[in-house]
Amino acid sequence: MHMNTFSPSLTRRHWRRVVSIGGMGLLLRSLMLITLYYAVGMWGFIFTPDAHGIPLVWPATGVGLAFVFLYGYGMLPAVGVASALITWQFTSEAVPLLESVGIVAATVAGVALGGHMLRRLTMRPRLERLRDVWLLLSVGAVASSGLAALAGAWGMAVGMDDLRFSQTWWLCWVADLMGLVLVAPALITWLGAPMRLPGSVRLAALALGLAITGITTLVYSGILPAMVAMPLSYAVFPLIMLAAVRCPIQITSGLILITGAVALSGTGWGLGPFADMGLGESLLSLNAQLALLVLTGLVLNALSHERAAAEARARQYLEDLARAGRLSTLGELSSSLAHELNQPLCALSSYAQACKRLLARGKMEDLQEALGQLDAGAHRAAETVRQMRAFAAGQTPEQQPVSPRDLVYPVLELLRPELNRRHIRLEVDLPDTLPRVSVVPLQVEQILINLLRNAMDAVHGLRAARIDLQVASTREGVTMTVTDTGPGIPPERLARLFDPFATWKEGGLGLGLSISRSLVEAHGGRLIARNRPEGGAEFHFTLPLETHHANP
Ligand code: ADP
Repeated sequence: MHMNTFSPSLTRRHWRRVVSIGGMGLLLRSLMLITLYYAVGMWGFIFTPDAHGIPLVWPATGVGLAFVFLYGYGMLPAVGVASALITWQFTSEAVPLLESVGIVAATVAGVALGGHMLRRLTMRPRLERLRDVWLLLSVGAVASSGLAALAGAWGMAVGMDDLRFSQTWWLCWVADLMGLVLVAPALITWLGAPMRLPGSVRLAALALGLAITGITTLVYSGILPAMVAMPLSYAVFPLIMLAAVRCPIQITSGLILITGAVALSGTGWGLGPFADMGLGESLLSLNAQLALLVLTGLVLNALSHERAAAEARARQYLEDLARAGRLSTLGELSSSLAHELNQPLCALSSYAQACKRLLARGKMEDLQEALGQLDAGAHRAAETVRQMRAFAAGQTPEQQPVSPRDLVYPVLELLRPELNRRHIRLEVDLPDTLPRVSVVPLQVEQILINLLRNAMDAVHGLRAARIDLQVASTREGVTMTVTDTGPGIPPERLARLFDPFATWKEGGLGLGLSISRSLVEAHGGRLIARNRPEGGAEFHFTLPLETHHANP
């Protein structure tokens, strides 16, 4: 989602830059402000229902507020000039000079206070949070319109002694606020936030613009009877709601402005469904409808943005979770790799040392075999890495029919140096008549290595250190059982024995049994651990026969 980069400090920096390049930006913006302020002021005076000269819509304050909020306090002199021009032009006969100055000062103060509060409270010009909408409306209502209405009421009260001040102030406040809610959102969103319109949205915006202009022109042209025109005037609501949900805020605020301008102008000229009640009453009723329209559009737009932002946050959260998941899988994978490579690398080192010893003794005939083991070990390590990479890439290794002997012998070769070094006796019961099994050979070898190494650790240092590997044929398949004469597994550890990273060994990783169990299960079997009644632990699993096609 596009992050809004607007902030008052940014505008201040921008502002300083504008001033430093010769004040052109300041001058242009000031001229733009004065022209707009004056134009909407004149337009506002069209809607002056009585001889006291109180306009019923006064968008000029909204123009001032928008410019000061967007471009900073440097706009205030222009607000003063524009306000003075209007006061001088429209009220000069009635209001003495001192009061005129007071009116201008109160207007500038209202705009300055409103602009300051909006900037201070960091309202975003995209109005994409409910908070921004409430800020604009409440600051506009209380600070800007409040003070500007004071100025207006003051001016009017001076000319018309019979008009009660509070009543005048109230009328001025309504006029100011209505003008402000119509004009300020459109100006702030159009000037303050860049707009990007995808092709489809552009079309939708055009269609909505045409529909709204058509409907409001029809309603406020006076050609329809009030009974038809009044309900039709509400037809803009669903269109504004659609725009608020589907289009950028600029489109919504622009459409509201078009509706407001057409409706107010029509009613001001005595046309449309609100015109019958007399200008004062009719404009107030229309103002109420327009205020609801503004609220609907802005609130719906903010709500849909907040929902989109919440969805984006949820998506981001899920992505973060998935990334964390991948990282943890990667971590487990590298730990597994470290674990599974440990054995072949130890064996390589043992064979390399044996080769050195044989060389030193000149036993060339034995060197051949030791080098062969070295070569096989290196291949094994490379194959382990390859299979892990294939696993990480999501590939399923292929099962092959093999004789159990071909699974057991390479393991015995690999472990022989360590068994000898640790003086451990390994008894292997491997009948000649065993049927072939359908397995991924390297995976079964890894299971055997893990179980035998654990058994070696369990009997390490014991006097009668002995491990048994029994391979037998049953109806389900070929079973492999590793037993040892060690201390067995303490009962409290049995429940967590196969959990990843569950270890009770110094320097242990706690992955051997967890990996082994996954590999056994990938062959459709179960790895079972138990303590033997005669002492020591027993690990047992079954491999599928060649004819039985288990899905790894
Ligand atoms: P690691 O060997 O790195 O600790 P394993 O998953 O291979 O990880 O083993 C987990 C734990 O299971 C070991 O720390 C050990 O306490 C227990 N264990 C495994 N095999 C045996 C065995 N044959 N006898 C006794 N305890 C064992």
